[in-house]
Amino acid sequence: MTGVLIIGAGIAGVTTALSLAAVGVECRVVDRVRELSAVGVGINLQPHAVRELTELGLGDRLAEHGVATAEAVHFDRFGNRIWREPRGVAAGFGWPQYSIHRGTLQTLLLAEVRERLGEDSVRVGLAFESCVETANGVSARLRTREGAEVTVDADALVGADGLYSAVRAWAHPGEGAPIGAGIRMWRGTTAGPPFLGGRTMIVAGSNSAAKFVAYPITPTVNGRTTINWVAEVRLPDDDLRADWTAPGRLADVLPHFADWRFAWLDVPKLIRGSATILEYPMVDRDPLPWWGTSRVTLAGDAAHPMYPIGSNGGSQAILDARVLAYYLATESDPVTALASYETARREPVSVIQLANRRLGPERVLRTVAERAPRGFTHIEDVLTPAELADIGAAYRNTTSTAAAELNARDSWHPDKRGRQG
Ligand SMILES: Cc1cc2nc3c(=O)[nH]c(=O)nc-3n(C[C@H](O)[C@H](O)[C@H](O)COP(=O)(O)OP(=O)(O)OC[C@H]3O[C@@H](n4cnc5c(N)ncnc54)[C@H](O)[C@@H]3O)c2cc1C
Repeated sequence: MTGVLIIGAGIAGVTTALSLAAVGVECRVVDRVRELSAVGVGINLQPHAVRELTELGLGDRLAEHGVATAEAVHFDRFGNRIWREPRGVAAGFGWPQYSIHRGTLQTLLLAEVRERLGEDSVRVGLAFESCVETANGVSARLRTREGAEVTVDADALVGADGLYSAVRAWAHPGEGAPIGAGIRMWRGTTAGPPFLGGRTMIVAGSNSAAKFVAYPITPTVNGRTTINWVAEVRLPDDDLRADWTAPGRLADVLPHFADWRFAWLDVPKLIRGSATILEYPMVDRDPLPWWGTSRVTLAGDAAHPMYPIGSNGGSQAILDARVLAYYLATESDPVTALASYETARREPVSVIQLANRRLGPERVLRTVAERAPRGFTHIEDVLTPAELADIGAAYRNTTSTAAAELNARDSWHPDKRGRQG
């Protein structure tokens, strides 16, 4: 094969394939799983990722399957409101933020890849093991599930193979296991009536003990939606194996939230209502000093696994895909293209990885929990006017800058440079 070999058919891998197809660069995707099924629970796509998928022609599909999130609201563990911030279009972005089922997103991206690039463009049951770079290309050694070795030659190779990336391990041997935050997460999806208007993401409590995040991920039909929830509890990191399909136990999570009944949401009922509960440790890895070698690079979680704070992992993977395709389409050779891609992406995304370790607006949430351990009626009784003003200013500064930058910046599609997507 010539063209680009993409290792991994997760969000990063399939979006890279769609992005390369959009600029006329030949590619193929392999994944080690036997079958690509709609696994996972909810995921968020920030406006910068929605812009990229919209430019790839998928805006209508996202609107059809996801929920355009209008606001994020923070509460204490009794459901008293601390602050709210608009999201997506309501925050001034030219594109919405979508909350969507990760499996639905992957399935719709994969279907587009197969339709646009052909059925053979994605091969399952092939795991990357190692590769050799030559002056003119890269030769990858893959393994079938039956144990046979397969060699595939390409102009360039993209490791989009997730948190336990074999491509990253090949390029950075001896890195070791992911790093834990001392927080366990249980996740589920529960059908029910929408709360607080149906387009709100809620964050209740604080990571000093327990925190609960919930948001709808399907359009409301007949008064029902699918509510994604994440229950986070501070616990020792005694098991850092991170497997998105690992089942969790109701008995382990429920006691931490047993009396979290708000006027507008019954948290224990929501937790009990999920047919499946998944358990996952909050892990990431240190930012890398460099991602790839001359013809090999990384994208998505393989390059920059991050805590799911600020709902950015999938969105950054989508940006990687688009930027990589841009440089492969516009630079004279793959080696220069991969170097330009890494220059454009590595440092900005490393900053996000490290910022997520500060656990977002945790400082304020902890302050509220400490000062009002039994709840409050008016947030003005808990936080000083200066502290409240700081929250508002910090939000406005970050969001208005981000929205203005996204709305004004050039497209990552070479043909659309010079005009907004
Ligand atoms: C099964 C699954 C479920 C998930 N569910 C959620 C969720 O509910 N909510 C959420 O926020 N995030 C979820 N994530 C993580 C989320 O998809 C990522 O954080 C983000 O979207 C970046 O995606 P990615 O494509 O870089 O990595 P991933 O989504 O992890 O995809 C990596 C892909 O690479 C494949 N792969 C791994 N090793 C090899 C190898 N050696 N050779 C070939 N292929 C290989 C894997 O099978 C996988 O398909 C899930 C990931 C997976 C794999």
